[in-house]
Amino acid sequence: MAISGLVLIDSLFIPLEKSLFEPERIASLRIFDKHGTLLREVLSSEEGRGRWCSLKEISPNVINAVIATEDSRFFHHPGVDPMALARATWQNIRARRVVSGGSTISMQVIRNIYHPLRGRRPERTFSQKLWEAWYALRLERMLSKEEVLLQYLNRVPFGNQTFGIDAAARLYFAKPGAQLSIAEAAFLAAIPNSPTMNDPYRHFNHVSERQRYVLSRMKEKGFISEEERERAEHEPLVILPRTAQFKAPHFTTMILSQLSKEEKLGYLEIHTTLDYNVQKTVELLSQSHLARLKRHNVGNGAVVVIDNRAHELVALVGSKDFFDSTSDGQVNGALALRQPGSTLKPFTYGLALENGATAADLLADIPREAGDESIDFLPENYDKKYHGPVRMRTALACSYNVPAVRTVEQFGEEVLLQKLHAAGFESLKEPSSFYGVGLTLGNGEVTLLELCNAYSSLANGGEWSSIRFVDSVKGIGGFKVQGSRFGVCPKGLLRRGSAFEMDSSQFTIPNVFSPQVAYILTDILSDAQARAPAFGVNSSLNLPFPCAAKTGTSKDYKDNWTVGYTPQYTVAVWVGNFNAKPMKMVSGITGAAPLFRDIMLLLHSSNTPALQFSKPEGITGANICPRSGMVVGESCPGEIHEYFIQGSEPKEVCNVHRKFRLDTRNGLLAARNTPQEFVEEKVFEIFPPIFNKWAEEEGIPKPPEVTVTSREQQEKVTVTSLAINSPTSGDVFKLDPILRPEYQTITVESLVAPEVEHVSLWLNGDEVAPLQPPYRFRLPLASLRKGYHTLVLKGKKGLRNVQSEPVQVAVQ
Ligand SMILES: [Zn+2]
Repeated sequence: MAISGLVLIDSLFIPLEKSLFEPERIASLRIFDKHGTLLREVLSSEEGRGRWCSLKEISPNVINAVIATEDSRFFHHPGVDPMALARATWQNIRARRVVSGGSTISMQVIRNIYHPLRGRRPERTFSQKLWEAWYALRLERMLSKEEVLLQYLNRVPFGNQTFGIDAAARLYFAKPGAQLSIAEAAFLAAIPNSPTMNDPYRHFNHVSERQRYVLSRMKEKGFISEEERERAEHEPLVILPRTAQFKAPHFTTMILSQLSKEEKLGYLEIHTTLDYNVQKTVELLSQSHLARLKRHNVGNGAVVVIDNRAHELVALVGSKDFFDSTSDGQVNGALALRQPGSTLKPFTYGLALENGATAADLLADIPREAGDESIDFLPENYDKKYHGPVRMRTALACSYNVPAVRTVEQFGEEVLLQKLHAAGFESLKEPSSFYGVGLTLGNGEVTLLELCNAYSSLANGGEWSSIRFVDSVKGIGGFKVQGSRFGVCPKGLLRRGSAFEMDSSQFTIPNVFSPQVAYILTDILSDAQARAPAFGVNSSLNLPFPCAAKTGTSKDYKDNWTVGYTPQYTVAVWVGNFNAKPMKMVSGITGAAPLFRDIMLLLHSSNTPALQFSKPEGITGANICPRSGMVVGESCPGEIHEYFIQGSEPKEVCNVHRKFRLDTRNGLLAARNTPQEFVEEKVFEIFPPIFNKWAEEEGIPKPPEVTVTSREQQEKVTVTSLAINSPTSGDVFKLDPILRPEYQTITVESLVAPEVEHVSLWLNGDEVAPLQPPYRFRLPLASLRKGYHTLVLKGKKGLRNVQSEPVQVAVQ
């Protein structure tokens, strides 16, 4: 005890480190938009906006207000006020907890200098107090009373990340600290006691009440007369609206967060790519739409706008209200990791297009009972229905889940994950097995900024680029940095390039898609007709100009997205809640879409009308049967236009719409000798066998299978005289990695009527080989790509061409 006491007294004579009390270095850093509008000015390394002032530059009203309220015997005690401490101790004992600090101005200086989290109140414990008191004594051995006061006035927190009286005066009253009136000085002196509780923006009345207390203390201590007190109490105070303080708050904060402390001190100007005219309107639109969505439990939202051709960020809104800390306003929703719902589906279908599929291909929107037990996971559709055979265009435009998952099954989630990485989704950090095929339904987590830029690459013909935020930087000593030092880089979200020598080649990565694939995706996403079955004909996604768009909703309705593009701009909108609260009654089309629409309309005003998407070389159009996606046959009920990558147009005539001759007397198939007056021709839809169960459930009419050949004899004859006996539809073949490939085959066994000649086996519309009795053929498994394959036998019966029912098998 005696020794520690000696050490303590001894340390009283050890001076505190001098550098701690040096004025904060001031370097004004100004952030501009692309037109030179000042967005934000940062005045000290702590972002405190303030300037280190001398006592002469501070109104005596402030000094009086502070001394009267915080430490009335400041000029008479040695750093610790025994009377104040005694009173505080008595109050604390009575309350059985720390309710009163009894802290002197000197003790508060110590707290602000040493506590690592400036501005936040350290724990109010007795030992903390004792430590502060001891250091305050040491402080006063080093500095004069005036110097201690100066430290206090320049360092104390005034809320809203503001430190020092000058910064506070400029923030709340837009004037320097020297010009504060008695009323204003008392108002500001009311804040440091508890900067959060006394936040003028959130608790103005509370601060006013405390201001009256400060005024009464000033009167009591003789700093002002009763008349002055009364006049000050009635002086109307108007604080500057906080939005006037800095613009595009999430954007500028994002940029500042990229800077090191040295850069913050060394840079004078940052010229960004943001267009404040657009930003301002997007902020207003977001606020009004979020107000509309409040009754749906939607608490927040975020928007990103990218100029596609310049690869520049135009606007960024991170939350409903940056300045509202009660709703996590400072969280930047554009950088938050969220589940993207269906918005990743275009990348799945782009992969399929890349691998030979076409937008006309029939995909299976059917439950998995229908003969493909091999598929582990099949989700429900949004409308909880199955739509049977759907063309890829419809499947994507209507955002059906089942065909998307079946499509991923064909090439596997690993391939999809690699494609998403190429599209800039660096947030998808887990191995593909973690996500599984649900990756296409958005079970991973991505950011709005990544999503926006990935779609921007579709607008740019499949070419991905990093997004620039900063145009140029000017620093102390006149240095200037031009170009893309900041932005979303290929490796890592928001990671900066390696200092100044970064060259643009670092951004060169293989294209996400070819211009042809990107064009077909764009054409589907901007096809109002194609999405009508799911979204109606007059949805918010239909704009008066060409605009590709996709919506998404995460499972449990926690996130709702709309993202889309014109040739000029990509807009991504997220609405939801930062906490896990689900939304109520919000669909892709009612949540984010109306805001998306309004922003698109704003961006393409009469001054900047939207352009048409330009069609690249290597795209051909063709008319197809809308049900089968094949070449229109004479029995097809209509036709629809579709785009194809040159060479991938369908070559086979529709085999879904088939004409049958019926005997009107009994409804059975007519025979060759049925009198012409009783023969009726009727078209039936016959889909590949995988759809049999679905067709049955849907009640799709089937042609009769029995032919009446003559009055004397009724003979059962099959529709054709050719059939594949093995394999059967729905069979799944897996390539065994251990077995030698030449031993792995699919054996095709055929049933052929004796009168049929010239039998041949066809695979996916191409002839494989002519067949001889016993009509057996071994198809090498290794020659088949993963996915579905259709086998058909063709032959001649007399002069007539005949063919078997197709058999569809899957290869994995
Ligand atoms: Zn047809």
